[in-house]
Amino acid sequence: MVSSRTTAADEAARRRTFAVISHPDAGKSTLTEALALHARAITSAGAVHGKGDRRGVTSDWMAMEQARGISVTSAVLQFDYRGNVLNLLDTPGHADFSEDTYRVLAAVDCAVMLIDAAKGLEEQTRKLFDVCRHRGVPVITFVNKWDRPGREALELMDEIEQEFRLRPTPVTWPVGIAGEMRGTLDAREPDAALRYTRAPGGEKAAAEERLDAAAAREVFGDDYDRAVEELELLTETGGGHDPEDFLAGRSTPVFFGAALSNIGVRVLLDAVVDLAPAPSPRRLADGGERPVDAEFSGLVFKMQANMDPSHRDRIAFLRVCSGVFERGMTVTRAASGRPFATKYAHSVFGQDRTSVELAYPGDVVGLVNAAQLRVGDTLHTGKRVEFPPMPTFAPEHFAIVRPTDIAKSKQFRRGIAQLDEEGVVQVLVSDIRGEQAPVLAAVGPMQFDVVRHRMEHEFSSPVRLESLPYHLARATDPAGGEALNRSRLVHGEAMLRVKDKVTLALFPSRWHVGSFEREFPDSPLEPLIAAH
Ligand code: GDP
Repeated sequence: MVSSRTTAADEAARRRTFAVISHPDAGKSTLTEALALHARAITSAGAVHGKGDRRGVTSDWMAMEQARGISVTSAVLQFDYRGNVLNLLDTPGHADFSEDTYRVLAAVDCAVMLIDAAKGLEEQTRKLFDVCRHRGVPVITFVNKWDRPGREALELMDEIEQEFRLRPTPVTWPVGIAGEMRGTLDAREPDAALRYTRAPGGEKAAAEERLDAAAAREVFGDDYDRAVEELELLTETGGGHDPEDFLAGRSTPVFFGAALSNIGVRVLLDAVVDLAPAPSPRRLADGGERPVDAEFSGLVFKMQANMDPSHRDRIAFLRVCSGVFERGMTVTRAASGRPFATKYAHSVFGQDRTSVELAYPGDVVGLVNAAQLRVGDTLHTGKRVEFPPMPTFAPEHFAIVRPTDIAKSKQFRRGIAQLDEEGVVQVLVSDIRGEQAPVLAAVGPMQFDVVRHRMEHEFSSPVRLESLPYHLARATDPAGGEALNRSRLVHGEAMLRVKDKVTLALFPSRWHVGSFEREFPDSPLEPLIAAH
């Protein structure tokens, strides 16, 4: 048995487990590919996340995925860099955006917030940032597409500060405005600058060259002086990178670049190694902590069903939190106290389901045949330990669900209850609609597709969904819920979330939230995690 405490501690110390949070089209796929390419995890561009040929990282396990040509799986990319092991977890966006996207953030130690230089902070970035803040995940910022016309760098810093109450501490700073990027300054090395030269013709990667201050002034001219001034101004007013503030979620180190031309990618990769925290002791439900060198423990942060249509296969994505994971070991599921055999453990790199033999804190393992496991489960060896439950996130899509065949109502009820328990979707009930017409609530509409698919193929009860005109949920108390349901003035409806018995007030828009607050000033209206 390889289970010495030193192995777990040493391996944990050289791991960095992170995700990229961004709005669709900001360049997440391009950056992921550039990072992996730079770390030499893959040999040719386009093999990872290439939009033209996504088979490199996506799976075709689900028939639905094939039909729509999208990925439902959060792939994990693992690569070695400078003697460290980097685990990059995918946060699916676009049509794939779902509660699982948020759950990925429960499994990382750091996030890279990718911002489009022309667009600044966008909706999906805001939501994902909210979850990072709630979970205490520190955020590194990368301003992307600096090779294209965009906003002023200072204005972007202002936006981060104002909107996220997060102090931006630029580590690199662009020389030249967006669209005319020539190089970057580095706050850690005031006497030098990096110059990027984009190769003419088809070659994508820009050449990177280090210049001393005198050479930089000569090459960059006024742009250099302006950049030095701006960086000095920012450092004077906001201070430089402060590890303690960064880890506490009060500040974010900022980097500039262009993923497409490989500008700033190496510097970002170095930042992940140098600034992002290694796996650290994890808080337990009882208030204690699980050190990384304790016996094995892990957190199930995502379940994927029906990957193999010929079996009722389930894969559980497990983040190792402490100790050494060895394939074949028998672990305990904390929720039931029952054993779970890990005979089929895979590294989860898209389609490539290679068996994983050993995994260390920070690594992600896919456990196949995991039907008995649930999102939020703790698996462990030795004495019982349990991590806090996985939170549920603010739903934004609501639909009444009904069986198409009334004779199947037993299967229908069983199926809906199980999907709720598994965390596939949130199930709400209301006094007005009654138990016969439960309401499904989801973060992304794709969760409804999964419900339809599984209800038909797994529970033999095809369903019909009728969407409701609500897009926002707030938590209230039972009296507030009743007031909303009775009000003639406020458009909205209250329902009880079955899983945690929280009363949710549903509204069509923020404007309607305001009218509720005016009408019932004494009723509480609490935002849910990732709610805007
Ligand atoms: P995702 O949706 O966030 O994964 O975004 P993609 O990586 O697919 O990028 C969206 C579009 O932006 C693509 O056309 C990319 O080629 C382009 N793009 C990404 N990074 C850059 C960049 O640094 N500069 C420029 N000019 N375009 C970029």
